[in-house]
Order: sequence, then C-alpha cells, then structure tokens
Amino acid sequence: MISELQLTTLHSFTDHLLKWFEKNGRDLPWRKTRDPYHILVSEIMLQQTNVDIVIPIYQKFLKRFPTIDDLAQASLHDVKNITDKLGYTRRGEFLFEIANTIISKNNGRFPDTFDELLELKGIGRYTAGAILSFAFERNDKSAAIVDVNVERVFSRVFGFWRDEKNSKFDKKIWIFAEEFTIGGNVWQKNQAILDLGATLCVSAKPKCYFCPMSILCMYYKEIVPKITPLDSFFE
Ligand code: SF4
Repeated sequence: MISELQLTTLHSFTDHLLKWFEKNGRDLPWRKTRDPYHILVSEIMLQQTNVDIVIPIYQKFLKRFPTIDDLAQASLHDVKNITDKLGYTRRGEFLFEIANTIISKNNGRFPDTFDELLELKGIGRYTAGAILSFAFERNDKSAAIVDVNVERVFSRVFGFWRDEKNSKFDKKIWIFAEEFTIGGNVWQKNQAILDLGATLCVSAKPKCYFCPMSILCMYYKEIVPKITPLDSFFE
C-alpha cells in the first residue's frame, strides 16, 4: 500500500521531524510522566480541547485525585465539578467509570494492551494508541495514533488531499501512522508529529516557511504557490 518512494520520504520526514522536535518540542506537564493514569487523564481532557485550557484543569484534577484509586473512591459530582469546566461533560463520567472498572474488575492493574484499553468507556483507537505510546512506551503498531493534527500533517506531506474524504482516506492515514512506528522511538515520534500539527502545520495558514518538512512536502510544492499569498505565512 505504501510505495518505495513514499517509504523513503517517510524516513526522511521522520529524521527531520525528530531533529526539529529536539529543539522545538512543547514543554507539557503530561510529557514528564509515564504514569498511565496521568496519561489517561490528559488524553481524555485533550479530546477536542486546546492544550492551554487543559493544563490548569489537568493539574487541579491530579492534585485532587492523585491516583486512580482516589478517583474511583470520589463522588461523580466532585469529579465533574472539575472536568465540566472543559465543556463536553461526558469526560468526567468516562474518567470516573474507567477508574471504577480498573479498580473493581482489574484489581487496580492498568490495562496495557490495545484490546483491553478499547474495552474501556470513552477510549477509541487514538486514545488506546496514545496510552500505549506515551505511558508504556510501546514501539509497535499498537502505539500508532491518528488525530486531526496527525491526519493533517500526513495528508499534506504525502499529498492525500487529492483523495475524497472517505473511509479509504482514513485507512491510508492509519497505514502511514503504523508504518511511522517502525524503527522505534515512538514516544518521540508521536509527540513530535502532534507538535508539528499544532504549531506549524496548522489548519489555516500553515507556517511552511519555518517548517523542516518544506523540502519534501507535497502541499508546499503543489498547493502553497497557487493559493497562499506570501505574507500570510508571517502572521
Ligand atoms: Fe505543513 Fe507546510 Fe510543513 Fe507541509 S511544509 S508539513 S504544509 S507546515
């Protein structure tokens, strides 16, 4: 499914990305831990929510419920009191239910396989991969992640905008995300691509002139010269 040329580009993309990340990676509190409970809290909170909004609420939540046991013993009302400030009020319910499931059915052992994680309420393919990657530092395809940032970066670099947005498109992006895990270093790779999508390869007016991928990016070569006025990159 991936051509030789795309594979070569992917390897080069990965090299540039990791070098860029070393100097430009964001300093985020959940990157200082490998505790799966803390990673779970961050990932549930980050769903469709900006990092700056999540940081103070993540810190407040973990101060109030430092362990998964503390969360399971709390009242749902107290949990939602903190998480509802993020909007999308199911988050508090998901976290509360996951904590209770892990404590009661799993004797407190945090699930560490893709299939086990998917059985938990509110956890889909992205979140399972993120927990395996960021908490357990798994270096195989189970740690692949695709969110809007990853999707945007891969689709622009490899020129998938030509495809209709359909199930084939999603399948293709996931194949690239899985291939991206090969060779290890998945914690760094996944954090790096999330940062690139959040800071340079943003949805409107990507900052291509500052991007290490511009030498190999299809979007930059084919689309930017046609549609983007030069000075829009410097806003
Ligand atoms: Fe995104 Fe531009 Fe970088 Fe390509 S060159 S990855 S479009 S920011």
